[in-house]
Amino acid sequence: MTYEPVIGLEVHVELSTKSKMFCRCSADYFGKEPNTHTCPVCLGLPGALPYINEQAIDDCIKIGLALNCTISEKSLFERKNYFYPDLPKGYQISQYRWPLCVGGKITLDSGEIIRINRAHQEEDTGKLTHKGKDTLIDFNRSGVPLVEIVTEPDFTDVEQIRDYAKKLQQLFRYLGVSNADMERGDMRLEANVSVRPEGQKELPSYRVELKNINSFRFMVAAVEYEIKRQTEALEKGEKLSQETRGWDEDKRQTYLQRSKEEAHDYRYFPEPDLPELILDQKKIEQIKKSLPELPWDKSNRYKELNIRVEDAVRVAESIELSQFFDDALKHGKKHGVKPQDIANYIVNKKPDIEKVLPTQIIEDIKDKKVGVIDNNEQLEVLAKQAIEENKKSAEDFKAGKENAIQALIGGVMRLSSGKADAGKVKEILTKLLLEIKN
Ligand code: ADP
Ligand code: MG
Ligand code: ZN
Repeated sequence: MTYEPVIGLEVHVELSTKSKMFCRCSADYFGKEPNTHTCPVCLGLPGALPYINEQAIDDCIKIGLALNCTISEKSLFERKNYFYPDLPKGYQISQYRWPLCVGGKITLDSGEIIRINRAHQEEDTGKLTHKGKDTLIDFNRSGVPLVEIVTEPDFTDVEQIRDYAKKLQQLFRYLGVSNADMERGDMRLEANVSVRPEGQKELPSYRVELKNINSFRFMVAAVEYEIKRQTEALEKGEKLSQETRGWDEDKRQTYLQRSKEEAHDYRYFPEPDLPELILDQKKIEQIKKSLPELPWDKSNRYKELNIRVEDAVRVAESIELSQFFDDALKHGKKHGVKPQDIANYIVNKKPDIEKVLPTQIIEDIKDKKVGVIDNNEQLEVLAKQAIEENKKSAEDFKAGKENAIQALIGGVMRLSSGKADAGKVKEILTKLLLEIKN
């Protein structure tokens, strides 16, 4: 019997609003002296009353709209109760039964659709630092606005997870709602993993939650490890159960943190100190109109101009770069320069868009100062030379490390003084390497 993974993701993103979610403290806490961005509300002192940060709500709606969610005209905050030293109130204000955004979807590069269950508004906890036997607490992060985005269990491999996480990160930056820096913890990922016999429609009765893994690379490794571990266990006829696991990078394996018996009962109930959140359609429409063109809409528009898929995605990478590209397209059209030639120029030459003008690159292309090398024979010669000069990467690629091809592409770019057509180079290198393999 073969098994297939079933994976659902929960992404937390910290919003870059000026103030915190339920008080006026500055939310710009990164690198600041501990416990300087605090007040009775975010310290959870008795009698302190929260009030809602409207900007955070707007940002959450933006995210929801971009993910094709329905925005609830009426939603509610609830208390999620649990005891932990980083949580001064003994509960987190979150949304549970009545979230702000429900039921959306996002399309991956592969064309596969991931359904979004909900996107809701909540607040961050404080931060613990363990020093020897002591634990230090910094409440600067306590109460910083968070949006949690939960998918349906639609992922079946880590490639999809990679693409999804990248798309969300790009979206947050496009919308200007967060820096979405994973290293800094602006964006955090949790995965729920289970496996089932291929063809089975029902979800497995258990799921393993991978938590508190603060690097994207480790998360991918942990998911891969879990798929293998669970598949092997089922093959041996073992029964798997609901649990939470962490990642041990030294041993490169996941380890049990909490079993189902120890699971929290959060005792959610409506937050009595906050009103219901009522929105009218006019406000939602207003926010919808304020959204920029979304990254995937941009790259689709570029694809319609006959730009290669890979390049269309590359020039839509950031809102600034795509703006630059759009301006260049406009000028290019006037001078009869093809969109693909402009895309090639940007992808290969990586102009500094803060210094160079879009009109300048059109002049460059017109003057043929930068003839792109896209002749197959010429490229093949360069590719062979790059492989010759970097046998290690070629071996790595053949051993399955697909990323190793980047070093070889880099080699060809160097040999061609940046003039080679990167998309074609990749094709040719792949072909050559596969030939050597057989
Ligand atoms: P919780 O409130 O405990 O986090 P949710 O119902 O919100 O639980 O689900 C959390 C995540 O788990 C969602 O992303 C969902 O898609 C995913 N999930 C649910 N069932 C499974 C399963 N059998 N295997 C993998 N993921 C699952
Ligand atoms: Mg959860
Ligand atoms: Zn405060």
